Amino acid sequence: MKAVAVFPGSREVRVIERPEPVIVEADDVLARVLDIGICGTDREISSFEYGTPPPGDDHLVIGHESLAEVVAVGGAVTGMQPGDLVVPTVRRPCTVPGCRSCRAGHQDYCYTGEFVERGIKEAHGYMTEYVVDRERYLVPVPAHLRDVAVLTEPLTIAEKALEQVFGLMQHRPPWNGADTPNDQRGRGLAALVLGIGPVGLLGAMRLVGAGFNTFVYSRELPSDPRPDLVAAIGATYASTQVVSFADLAAEIGNIDLVYEAAGHSHFAVEALTMLGTNGIFVLTGVPGVQAFREADPARLMRQMVLNNQILLGTVNAGPTAFASALHNLELFSQTWPATVRSLIAGRYPPERAPELILGRPSGVKSVVAF
Ligand code: BGC
Repeated sequence: MKAVAVFPGSREVRVIERPEPVIVEADDVLARVLDIGICGTDREISSFEYGTPPPGDDHLVIGHESLAEVVAVGGAVTGMQPGDLVVPTVRRPCTVPGCRSCRAGHQDYCYTGEFVERGIKEAHGYMTEYVVDRERYLVPVPAHLRDVAVLTEPLTIAEKALEQVFGLMQHRPPWNGADTPNDQRGRGLAALVLGIGPVGLLGAMRLVGAGFNTFVYSRELPSDPRPDLVAAIGATYASTQVVSFADLAAEIGNIDLVYEAAGHSHFAVEALTMLGTNGIFVLTGVPGVQAFREADPARLMRQMVLNNQILLGTVNAGPTAFASALHNLELFSQTWPATVRSLIAGRYPPERAPELILGRPSGVKSVVAF
């Protein structure tokens, strides 16, 4: 079967042939991959800045944003059958007995760093025709989400972030509490999203859906097609090339939440200085190695303390974030059907994956389809 792999030794990205995987454990599931999204992490892995092949292999099969169809199940599988759709989670637990997070099934909070991530770190991914995975790592997907479910994994980033933000909000008196309906948790509050890539746009949808007055700030000019998507979901777009940060902040008023999805450290630090009183700042981007801007740490520290601010980094996602991502993807598809569909720029054969990963992204999300 075909797979798309990176070879760090020879610095190549290419389609390879591999043997089809087989069911070994009783709770294994064999699935046929339907769609695989390409993301910034795939670009970094393919530029050899990130990612590690499994021990002993010279290559890593990439791909971690996937949708697959169950083909066969082992004898102990109870929750899925051939024909069902599934989205695999990405991270697998470390084996260290003392890692309380991994032992409790919360490997997205692994303490040791010895976790494995399929398609990223020491385990092959899903940009291939067939995969085998344990049932517990697969999330069932309703059949009617077939066209958009490849967006589940990137949406889990926002879901995990908001799980934490909503938890923190309950303890910050002016914010809306746990008794507020989910679609009004952000009522009366302003959120600023940095970046207009898939994580930024899905995050903006999630924030609008939660009732935040949502702004998106990114470098693309208003003539780019993506700001239209921001307007279509009821958020406000500003381009860094047109509006200064200070002017934008003045327009927004108190910035209650920043959702950083640009992966650019200079931009993030500048935004941190704009965070409002009682504000929460969520970092989701993983920047490459960049020179750090000269931000005055004393001024930042003073600002953060005197304004009760929270700086929160978040990575990967657990089962509850996957479940709420599917729930919200369904809501988004009902509320903004054309916008959600247009997030997927196109579906392409695996032979085009290297050029799609290494070239300039066109549209929001390119998908490889098998
Ligand atoms: C993936 C996460 C992963 C992270 C760091 C992201 O692109 O969505 O699942 O934990 O990269 O490797």
